[in-house]
Amino acid sequence: MQSDSPLTALKGVGPALAKKLGKLNLNRVDDLLFLLPLRYEDRTQLIEVGALEVGARCLVSGEILLAETVFRGRRNLLVRIGDSSSQLTLRFFHFSRQQQAQFQPGSHATCFGEVRRGQSGFEMIHPEYRITQEGQDAATTDSLTPIYPATEGVQQGRLRSLTDQALRLMQAAPPEELLPRAITEKLGMPSLADAINYLHRPPPDADIQQMLSGTHPCQQRLAFEELLAHYLSLRNLRALTATEDAIALTDGNEDVSGFVSELPFKLTGAQNRVVSDILSDLAEPHPMMRLIQGDVGSGKTVVAAVACLKAITCGVQTAIMAPTEILAEQHLRSFSDWFRPLGITPVWLSGSQRAALRRESLQSIAGGSAQLIIGTHALFQEGVDFHRLGLVIIDEQHRFGVHQRMALRDKGSSKNGRPHQLVMTATPIPRTLAMAAYADLDTSVINELPPGRQPVSTVAVPETRRSQVVERVRSACATGQQAYWVCPLIEESEVLDYQAAAASYQMLTEALPKLRVGLIHGRMRPVEKERGMRAFKEGLIQLLVATTVIEVGVDVPNASLMIIENAERMGLSQLHQLRGRVGRGAAQSHCVLLYKSPLGQIAKERLAVLRDTNDGFIVAQRDLELRGPGELLGTKQTGLPDYRIADLARDADLMPQVQISAEAIRKKSESRAAAIVRRWLGDASRYGKV
Ligand code: ADP
Ligand code: MG
Repeated sequence: MQSDSPLTALKGVGPALAKKLGKLNLNRVDDLLFLLPLRYEDRTQLIEVGALEVGARCLVSGEILLAETVFRGRRNLLVRIGDSSSQLTLRFFHFSRQQQAQFQPGSHATCFGEVRRGQSGFEMIHPEYRITQEGQDAATTDSLTPIYPATEGVQQGRLRSLTDQALRLMQAAPPEELLPRAITEKLGMPSLADAINYLHRPPPDADIQQMLSGTHPCQQRLAFEELLAHYLSLRNLRALTATEDAIALTDGNEDVSGFVSELPFKLTGAQNRVVSDILSDLAEPHPMMRLIQGDVGSGKTVVAAVACLKAITCGVQTAIMAPTEILAEQHLRSFSDWFRPLGITPVWLSGSQRAALRRESLQSIAGGSAQLIIGTHALFQEGVDFHRLGLVIIDEQHRFGVHQRMALRDKGSSKNGRPHQLVMTATPIPRTLAMAAYADLDTSVINELPPGRQPVSTVAVPETRRSQVVERVRSACATGQQAYWVCPLIEESEVLDYQAAAASYQMLTEALPKLRVGLIHGRMRPVEKERGMRAFKEGLIQLLVATTVIEVGVDVPNASLMIIENAERMGLSQLHQLRGRVGRGAAQSHCVLLYKSPLGQIAKERLAVLRDTNDGFIVAQRDLELRGPGELLGTKQTGLPDYRIADLARDADLMPQVQISAEAIRKKSESRAAAIVRRWLGDASRYGKV
């Protein structure tokens, strides 16, 4: 039998069980080797009853002293066992007459379960148990007992016996060692077979704490190889892009420098550097795939505008996609203003557009008279047919998974090849995480803010002091500044969401009768939102009450005070995004985080991070540590790879070595690289051929 045989080749696996195992993504014998235990139980030693500790899961044995049913709301079976040191109660809520009869005083029972404090001393609820005779050895095991991820209808015992079979097969035919010796030796890693064996059947002296935290060298060995496989597949994708055709955009250098010199400000050094990265990419006859990382307010939009202008002067169409209508409208306004002197008029496309206008937009896009198209996701829906799309810009993409990237690659492809792509993040991503998630993209970082910006000063204030905060809004607005008051999004319900914002709006209009207060929430029609936003931008509204719809991108430089309600409920990166709405002008800006006491430990740390730093990269790093990568990258939503073993929050620090090793392996043996990708990702065609 081969390790890549189907599971039905194993003893005891029929089609029905194979189907259930398929739900755990187990299809081949080999897959079982990579199904690692979630935790381990120590059944290697019998613990004396007198030495039990609350919370521990352990194996005990004792003489049955008493078995009785009592009525405590429902029938309970209580069995008392004891050894020379002490006594313990076993409690069963569900039991058969036959089970009850098994517990004969004088017999012995060996049990495994969690120790709790009961009404009369320690007890175990529904322990696993076995009836034994006096003097009969209560057999222990000689390795820690693995507990596997469960699936419906497959018992732990079954998974253990299947992995036993798979491990035996592995001894006979170990999986190929794909990591070069030079790498495993340098990093002091065990061989693949040793690591797998150890993790499935750890010896009694294994460091359980280390294994539970996922930092055991054997776990790190597997995590490393998995990260390597994903990295290699993304690198392949990048290599593939370099062989594809795109329209080389080489003309129009004077127009671009003319535009830059007419701007009301001078580009920062970082902006200039990123612009030149982009311009040299665009001049290549292969599609650009570039990610711009920059903190909130670092000036990503104007960089995008330069790229746009370059494309337009070279005679191709550019599409700019923003995640929300508010933001897309804002871009429409900025780009219209910037490009008006050049005679370029952006075309608008959104889902909520009236049919006649939409038809008009679609016609100009297909006919080619639309040079610059701005909109939301509607840009890439069915029925949008570009005449000659040369550049796609995706702004403030907070969550941009590999599948979305793959899907976008194909949009707008034509006989001229693929369009160039520029992606701008809404949230800085820690360097190691970016290595893992975006290895198929080239990255530029705008690591400098426009001059004259003062860091936003941030305070956390309990809700009980709300009236002081309202007072603060009043005095700030009295001096001509503007303020945001943000209510948290209530994910489950647009209605509740609206109610929360409406209640704050009412409270604030009553408390501040002299102020012009506006309200924006998710249930409004896009035109209404846009009207509210415009009024705020033009200063007609002084205080804008909003839900987190204004989270990304909104730019109103005169706003200098940000109040965030229920800040304890929001993630760090989101809070940093919201705070980034202020501090965009010359005035000193403030952010007040209103919270409900008492704060949990993580919430406390989050608020402290924001108080202590304005640097988005530091905030992102802390967010990664506190909440894991899912929140930063949106693993679930966008289908970023679900790792089997690696955990980016825990293992991101492996990435620099992963990167170095990947480059070395690629250089030395493409077939080796391909085998690594195949082992972990299956059919490599998903991310392009190796
Ligand atoms: P973000 O990177 O968050 O998208 P924006 O592109 O919205 O930032 O820019 C924030 C603000 O800074 C805008 O009002 C923009 O006009 C302004 N800005 C951009 N670059 C500069 C610069 N080099 N000097 C001064 N202000 C700038
Ligand atoms: Mg922006």
